[in-house]
Amino acid sequence: MDTAKPLQELKNLLGEDRVLTKIEDRACYSYDASPYISEPQAVLIPRDTRDISGILKIASKYKMPVIPRGAGTGLSGGCVPVDGVFVLDMSKLNKIIEIDTKNLVAVVQAGVVLADLHRAVESLGLFYPPDPQSMNICTIGGNIATNAGGPRCFKYGVTKDYVLGLEVVLADGRIIRTGGKTIKNVSGYDLTRLFTGSEGTLGVITEVILRLIPLPRAKRTALALFNTLEDGAAAVSGIIERRIVPTTLELMDQDNMILIEKAKGVGFPMDAEAGILIEVDGKPREVAEDINLIAEICKEFGAREVRIAQTPEEAAALWAGRKASFGCLAQSTPSVFIEDATVPRSQLVTAIREFKALAKKYNLRIPILGHAGDGNLHPDICFDEKKPDEVARVEQCIDEMFSIALKLGGTLSGEHGIGIAKRKYVPWEFGEAGADVLRSIKNALDPLHILNPGKVLL
Ligand SMILES: Cc1cc2nc3c(=O)[nH]c(=O)nc-3n(C[C@H](O)[C@H](O)[C@H](O)COP(=O)(O)OP(=O)(O)OC[C@H]3O[C@@H](n4cnc5c(N)ncnc54)[C@H](O)[C@@H]3O)c2cc1C
Repeated sequence: MDTAKPLQELKNLLGEDRVLTKIEDRACYSYDASPYISEPQAVLIPRDTRDISGILKIASKYKMPVIPRGAGTGLSGGCVPVDGVFVLDMSKLNKIIEIDTKNLVAVVQAGVVLADLHRAVESLGLFYPPDPQSMNICTIGGNIATNAGGPRCFKYGVTKDYVLGLEVVLADGRIIRTGGKTIKNVSGYDLTRLFTGSEGTLGVITEVILRLIPLPRAKRTALALFNTLEDGAAAVSGIIERRIVPTTLELMDQDNMILIEKAKGVGFPMDAEAGILIEVDGKPREVAEDINLIAEICKEFGAREVRIAQTPEEAAALWAGRKASFGCLAQSTPSVFIEDATVPRSQLVTAIREFKALAKKYNLRIPILGHAGDGNLHPDICFDEKKPDEVARVEQCIDEMFSIALKLGGTLSGEHGIGIAKRKYVPWEFGEAGADVLRSIKNALDPLHILNPGKVLL
């Protein structure tokens, strides 16, 4: 593709220093946290919505694909420029515009880092619950584009439950606003929801209105340890059946706990098959009652030990272990697909049993981690991409894993999105007619297919 003319127009629009074409710069934008890699022809660094609108007008004129990129922490290849010419680096749109304490909303630009938003609202006694564990790096725009989740989403819901309004630049460069600061808004089609989870394929999100809630006054954390993974999974269902809704119910299997312990020394045992990291939050008295009740339920389901953190430092140490899990895993294997097959909570034990059986059948190492409270499992498929026979087994294993998840009434993705990784399975979940509806929406909003092509749909 001859990019000389559009590149000149882009340099005129943005300035020379905001259009990167050197190989070492392009390489930095060729990957995310999935195993996919592909270099763009140029990286564009807009300063504001107007820049993005101008970029998309030029991209439309020359039919040049543009791939929005937040922080590149995605796990499905969403921002990897497979068919991409230009990567759009959103990191300079990083202003928290307003925290409106009267309406309990925050207005932020899409490139704001999630942890910065957490700190800003919490300093005012407010709370934005979604907490993908990449929060120190990932952006709000990336979170909305993937409809991200996280441990706390069991109690509080996912990103879409907090998005009230958006500013979006369409593929042809026009700018629209959806929703607003009101909690209720049923005018017309729900465009806010349509762009939420659209993975950069329908528009570029530039500004966001987010719903906030009051910050819970207290929280307690505990780690329950089980001799069998099935007992751990059963305890998760047991807690939910007793009508208790903790903030988090994070399941770690033995493989994960060993890797974390070896790297971080946080005191996880090496011989327990499962650990559940539990957090409860709310009013101080209720929180104290709930954590003790949960400890009792875990023991009923065979927990060999329940460690209730007695200080914020002890709680932080337990969470530091859980947060390090992805890094520890990545160090232990040449490549890994972090899957997020998700099943109804009642099917958790069956899903874990079947996924573990797949590891045996295909002779693969598949540690399992999960936001177990909402049935969102992360079977982590470890492999070496230099071994073709192993890659072939991984592909068959993933096919079977998704057919199991769907058979159990689940979904291909609880929080990471479809990206490149799961495109071929979309008709399995939506049916051919459903997949056609998705294609029609794409064609209506991006008829030239310049926005993040090759993602979500085949
Ligand atoms: C260690 C680790 C832990 C993680 N934990 C979690 C977790 O607990 N829960 C969870 O849900 N995810 C998790 N993730 C996955 C990832 O962090 C999320 O998917 C996150 O939302 C991606 O944000 P990002 O800014 O990095 O987006 P990117 O990876 O840059 O992009 C992701 C997708 O969003 C699109 N996009 C980005 N910005 C925009 C924009 N402004 N407008 C339109 N489209 C855009 C991209 O084109 C791409 O399709 C984890 C990842 C890592 C590495």
